[in-house]
Amino acid sequence: MVWKPSEKEEEHFVRLEFERKKKLEEERHKNLAEEERKRLKELHYMKCPKCGMELIEIDYRGIKVDKCSECEGVWLDAGELEAVSRLKKAGLNKLFNVFKR
Ligand SMILES: [Zn+2]
Repeated sequence: MVWKPSEKEEEHFVRLEFERKKKLEEERHKNLAEEERKRLKELHYMKCPKCGMELIEIDYRGIKVDKCSECEGVWLDAGELEAVSRLKKAGLNKLFNVFKR
């Protein structure tokens, strides 16, 4: 089978069209993922991972500690456990005292 120039051109344009649509679709997927991430963050931000109630944030010597308003769970951000572990015994007791009832 011999390809006429017009057929080759046609193939070329179909291919371009495919590439264009593929790019659009990939972009759409990327946006969907971003929207989903945004939705999940809005749903869960500053909510207790155990019981789902509001977290209360306190700042103790630059360490932000999130304490659940319901189940009393205490949550730390990245690096904060290390920061807490560097506190001396007296500082640690003061931190615990903040939460004593
Ligand atoms: Zn909780």
